[in-house]
Amino acid sequence: MSSNLAGRYVRTQTSSIIATTVFFLVVALVLTGLVAHVVITMTRSANEIDDARASRAARAAMGAFVGRLSGTTTDNAIWDDAYSAVSSPAAADWAYENWGKTSEDYALYDGAIVIGPDRSSIVSAYAKGKPFQPSAFFGQGFYQQINVAADPGRAPVINFIKTESGIALIASQAIQPFEATAELPKLSTLSFYKEFTSEVIDTLSNEHELEGLRLETTPKPDFLNTPITDMKGAVIGYLVWPSKAPGSAVFHQVYPYIAAAIVILALFLIGVLLVGASEARRLRQLAQTAIFEADHDSLSGLLNRHGLLNLLEGLGNSATSPHRLYLVDLDGFKAVNDAWGHAVGDDLIRLVSKALTACHPEIIATARLGGDEFALAHVGSATCGEMEKTILALFAEPFKIDGRTIEVGASIGAAGRNGDVPPLELLRRADMALYRAKANGRGQAIEYDPELDRERQRVAELEGQLKNAISSGAIEAVFQPLVSASTGAVTGLEALARWRTATGNISPEIFIPLAERCGLIDALGVHMLRTSIEHAKSWPDLALSVNVSPIQLCNPEFAAEVISVLQELDFNPNRLTLEITEGVLMTNPDQARRSIDQLKRVGIKFALDDFGCGYASIGALRQFGFDRMKIDRSLVSALDEGANGADVLRATISLATALRIPVTAEGIETARQAAILRDAGCDQLQGYLMGKPMSAYDISSRLEEESVA
Ligand code: C2E
Ligand code: MG
Ligand code: MG
Repeated sequence: MSSNLAGRYVRTQTSSIIATTVFFLVVALVLTGLVAHVVITMTRSANEIDDARASRAARAAMGAFVGRLSGTTTDNAIWDDAYSAVSSPAAADWAYENWGKTSEDYALYDGAIVIGPDRSSIVSAYAKGKPFQPSAFFGQGFYQQINVAADPGRAPVINFIKTESGIALIASQAIQPFEATAELPKLSTLSFYKEFTSEVIDTLSNEHELEGLRLETTPKPDFLNTPITDMKGAVIGYLVWPSKAPGSAVFHQVYPYIAAAIVILALFLIGVLLVGASEARRLRQLAQTAIFEADHDSLSGLLNRHGLLNLLEGLGNSATSPHRLYLVDLDGFKAVNDAWGHAVGDDLIRLVSKALTACHPEIIATARLGGDEFALAHVGSATCGEMEKTILALFAEPFKIDGRTIEVGASIGAAGRNGDVPPLELLRRADMALYRAKANGRGQAIEYDPELDRERQRVAELEGQLKNAISSGAIEAVFQPLVSASTGAVTGLEALARWRTATGNISPEIFIPLAERCGLIDALGVHMLRTSIEHAKSWPDLALSVNVSPIQLCNPEFAAEVISVLQELDFNPNRLTLEITEGVLMTNPDQARRSIDQLKRVGIKFALDDFGCGYASIGALRQFGFDRMKIDRSLVSALDEGANGADVLRATISLATALRIPVTAEGIETARQAAILRDAGCDQLQGYLMGKPMSAYDISSRLEEESVA
């Protein structure tokens, strides 16, 4: 996943997690709020309903208290005996006997007062069975009530009144006959009072289920209060009792469960928050890892190709910050992997990564682009040459891994950013330079030059032309005689490819490697084999040698293809020798071996070409079972250069002879060379002296001449 994609993915995921968590929290809080509202409303309503009931009960209690005293007063005031008695001289005694005495210990009243018709003289006044002074006890309010109550026919006047000791309820009514027969004179008044004592209040409290009812002079906050007013409407006290608050009681009963539910909900919400937060954190970390991995190589921890391109993009063009890119490719890394295994190869990559990163302070970034290919971005004043020297110096010393000493080299391709070069183009240029550095040999450093592009262009064009030449049959075969060292007679012919173009001939030294690189060698090889055999059928007594690229041998279909050409053209396999330079045989020795064995079984012979130059070795001679060895032209021409040239040649030929492998010497140009080689033991000679490569027509003419001679 690219870093941008990873970032966008995580942002979306994180916002959806945050949105889900917030949604969850909001829903939970709204539900909690609703439930809390319901519980509070129910609690308050239950309290209010009970408070209203209690207030009604308090009023009823007062009403009952008033009603009782009022009834008692009426029963005694409207009484024929009392009416006649209070207007007699024995009124005081009568009043005492019937009412004053009773007041000593009577539940219905605490005192009885009889006021004469003048509404001021006291006929009789007893409190708790003892005489007392009403005006002192009740104050002036008493006479005001008498004034109102003295009229006959009235219901008793009843009021709460402030007394010396507290509050009392006093009821007054004119003393009158049960039924008046005539108009009544001015009447005496009977008053009963009942003190509002704590016992009275307790009784009311019990009767009306008003727990905690008491009398107070001021209202009590947080309690239920009912005011008590006197006849003028002034508040003289308060009945006070605590609210039962049944809602609150129920609330307190269920409170532990509510508290537990709140705690559980809170824990749940905290859990949701924590899970949300940890999920968001996990996603952020995942994204950071993904972003890092998208830009970095897991083995070395360096930037990868994507990361490098991002970095180059960020650096901008060279006008703002001139910089240079170095591509470093290890030489011989594959051999390290093959020899020591991939674990050691990985360790080497890590070591090289560290070394490259730290090799120069002006290196701003290091990347690993492939198996053994690295890139360094350089910003600073060091020249390209200095940097290349610094990098190559890292590989001058072997690397030490677990006691092993491992040597690898490096090739460097460099490219600077001049003008507005896109990162990909900069990378391509450095790659082009690296390709050239590797082609030039190991341990080279090449800086990009536009000429490299032009050359690449030329090669590409040449590839196209070669392809056409092969398919149109423009590649021809010429033949060079192979001569018997003893008789000088032509015993065989080596076919050599020729490419003649309108602008001149192109050497096989150029087009054969080109065909190998661009995958045309198989087609070219089959074409040459077919052409050579077609010509060779005219020379039935001669052997035919055809050059084969080792790359062809590594193709699993090669052997079958050769055999099918031979069968098709009806050519005797015993006449055919395939010449191979060892070169890349060793890269896939198993397949090469299989092809060689298969072809040898049908009678085809193999010659190891160019022995003595490059890689050709005695080891290869034995390993692949070659039937002949061809000594390279360079060894033959060395005969003219110094004394030990002949010794080297002789030693080489003796080695082959010891292995019973016949030897051909190539590139013989002088009779002296021919003589030395013949003496040394070569049984076959080849070279301009014996005959240059020539057309089939020329070969036929020469053979004719020889047969005539
Ligand atoms: P080679 O197979 O070793 O061929 C011998 C080369 O030496 C030929 O060069 C030949 O012209 C040259 N030569 C022979 N005698 C003398 C001499 O006395 N003096 C000098 N200076 N040169 C001499 P040529 O034809 O240019 O071929 C070069 C190489 O190209 C061949 O070396 C062979 O490896 C390869 N080649 C040529 N044709 C083919 C082909 O059809 N297929 C493949 N795979 N390779 C081919
Ligand atoms: Mg050859
Ligand atoms: Mg050769």
